[in-house]
Amino acid sequence: MPGMATSLRSQFAMDKSVTSRFWQLDQRGKVQAKYIWIDGTGEHIRSKTRTLDFEPKDPSELPIWNFDGSSTGQAEGADSDVYLKPVAIFPDPFRLGKNKLVMCETLDNKKQPTATNNRHRCVQVMEKAASHHPWFGMEQEYTLLDIDGHPFGWPKNGFPGPQGPYYCGVGANKVYGRDIVEAHYRACLYAGIQISGTNAEVMPGQWEFQVGPCEGISMGDQLWVARFLLHRVAEEFGVIATLDCKPIKGDWNGAGCHTNFSTEKMRSPGGISEILSAINKLSLVHAQHIAYYDPHGGKDNERRLTGLHETAKIDQFSYGVASRASSIRIPRQTDDEGFGYFEDRRPSSNCDPYTVTAALVRTVCLEGAERKLSMMYVPSSGFQAPPSAH
Ligand code: ADP
Ligand code: MN
Ligand code: MN
Ligand code: MN
Repeated sequence: MPGMATSLRSQFAMDKSVTSRFWQLDQRGKVQAKYIWIDGTGEHIRSKTRTLDFEPKDPSELPIWNFDGSSTGQAEGADSDVYLKPVAIFPDPFRLGKNKLVMCETLDNKKQPTATNNRHRCVQVMEKAASHHPWFGMEQEYTLLDIDGHPFGWPKNGFPGPQGPYYCGVGANKVYGRDIVEAHYRACLYAGIQISGTNAEVMPGQWEFQVGPCEGISMGDQLWVARFLLHRVAEEFGVIATLDCKPIKGDWNGAGCHTNFSTEKMRSPGGISEILSAINKLSLVHAQHIAYYDPHGGKDNERRLTGLHETAKIDQFSYGVASRASSIRIPRQTDDEGFGYFEDRRPSSNCDPYTVTAALVRTVCLEGAERKLSMMYVPSSGFQAPPSAH
């Protein structure tokens, strides 16, 4: 059977014990730097590697590089070079040693930020609000899929039993894919990501990890690199990690990226009044935030924010203490202690953390003209003027 021969050959070619011999070879003093960037979808990640003859300690020591933007939805073929500007460095948990992962911004041929370079705009916002010391913790939910796109661990003809036993579950009939979760957790720790935890989610094959608290721009940098590591680890297992916010229609939970937020005042005694004032500001610009909370101007979240499955309806703003059916949840402990943080439950699992964190800081911390600082990009509709309420 020709098909069988092919599959055996590809298994042999990908035998990890064969690869491991090469991982042990001496690098002769050279350093591998894997440059990572967000592509033209605003959602997916690309990477490529170059050799350095020194170990970089700071992104400014790293060369600007470029790539073929016509192959990533970021440029036309006739004028296709897009620049990669290194902005953050992490130890590489795959290549180990002095090798690095390098988070990059993308710049066009005039050295201006490309359409999906939301980081550039986020940095401006974070600089204006630096004295507020904005902290974020983002809860990244995701779903594992078999290589054929079928939910990982689900029966090929049918469905697992209804939701209930899977959230934080244990046992081979409760959770699917824990090896990937454990490997990813350690990879993040090695890379210096402030990963704060992980848990199995409500839908079988769905998981979450949290990154935070991170201050300012580092939230977006760390979450994007943690996502890169998730895809890379899953690839190692021949499994797909999708950030689709509603991978399975029907009575199955969707996936979000709850964003926990606080300023220095909110974290100090009496901070609850600051939290309530922030929530009031957010209530006035609900629709604008929804437009920033997925890469398609709210279209993805239409499938997820239904009012069911621990969500609030997409067109209604609400908040509550310990409420998982609200747009905003005030954790019970924050209410008890009178200070702490709040959780914005609206961002989609595939949101751009640079866009989400910038929107929160603009609305909550900045006033007047500064709120209008950044032009945010929504791929489905091109550049959008800042919402009028901002
Ligand atoms: P949930 O109870 O909603 O499941 P998680 O425990 O999954 O919450 O995630 C909470 C996140 O909030 C973590 O990433 C944590 O680091 C972050 N966090 C904790 N304190 C703060 C704070 N003061 N400001 C912002 N984020 C915070
Ligand atoms: Mn959580
Ligand atoms: Mn969750
Ligand atoms: Mn949450």
